[in-house]
Amino acid sequence: MLIIDGKKVAAELRQKVRNDVDAIVREHGRAPHLAVILVGDDPASQIYVRYKEKACDEVGIVSRIWRLDGSTTQCALEKHLAELCESDDIDGILLQLPLPRGLDANRCLAMIDPRKDVDGFHPENVGRLSIGLPGLKPCTPYGVMKLLEYYGLSPAGKQAVVVGRSNIVGKPMAMLLSAQTPFGNATVTVCHSRTPDLGAICRQADLIVPAIGKAKLITRDMVKPGAVIVDVGMNRLPDGKLCGDVDYDNVLDVVSAITPVPGGVGPMTIATLMANTVEAFRWRRERPLCPVD
Ligand code: NAP
Repeated sequence: MLIIDGKKVAAELRQKVRNDVDAIVREHGRAPHLAVILVGDDPASQIYVRYKEKACDEVGIVSRIWRLDGSTTQCALEKHLAELCESDDIDGILLQLPLPRGLDANRCLAMIDPRKDVDGFHPENVGRLSIGLPGLKPCTPYGVMKLLEYYGLSPAGKQAVVVGRSNIVGKPMAMLLSAQTPFGNATVTVCHSRTPDLGAICRQADLIVPAIGKAKLITRDMVKPGAVIVDVGMNRLPDGKLCGDVDYDNVLDVVSAITPVPGGVGPMTIATLMANTVEAFRWRRERPLCPVD
């Protein structure tokens, strides 16, 4: 049984990004620049932003965090985004979600220049992913694919079940796993809160990717012997510990490979954000008219 080591794979990816950044500095005289916008004082968002800032420092990407007051208006936020889109010095823009009540996240995301959209949430990048064109991919599902690839766990020809259909994880995850790419070609079922008998569907799966946000919802009886589980869920237990969506301890002797939480998908999300920032830098320079073809 394999414990998939997200910390190790993420560290190797960050090292590769570090080398890419060094090469960019030599060629262009400056490092890629990531702009992060944090609106309001959501405690979890503040922690995530600090992680991102630290990761940027580590790989040599210049980051600047704009901390905007929770009372910022839609108009002011859009003006700020427009300025960042216009600025030639900014290579990547990340709008930390969720936004405070009253602000329209979809409208803001659609305003970001797709070439700077390091989260891969812009409708153009979502469309590109869905029709198999190159583009910036959402960091968490991209990180899951990189984990599978690192360990040679090819989804091709496998039955995969993605639990969750959010725009940031579940949907793009299903698209990547089923894509006609060397490391896609799975037959994917997407489940959600209205799926009857989730257990019966999961039991058919060679690969389960839960992205639910409910601690230990995927139990031993829902897992086929030998299945691979990549657990995206991150839940805080009453004792303060983090856990995934899978009943980890009780499935260990059933699965053939599994990610721990923490130390699985989480570190990959930040590492792929760094990789996306480098990709954004290159795309804007190398293909200025046709951004990500
Ligand atoms: P989300 O937007 O709340 O989506 C959760 C999905 O789970 C929804 O599609 C929901 O169905 C489905 N669901 C809820 N209860 C269910 C049930 N009982 N059975 C089956 N499906 C159920 O959450 P998200 O943003 O995708 O995040 C999901 C989890 O991943 C969270 O724990 C989050 O913290 C974690 N996460 C981790 C990372 C990382 O880097 N490790 C990154 C992003 C997110 P409906 O659509 O029907 O409501």
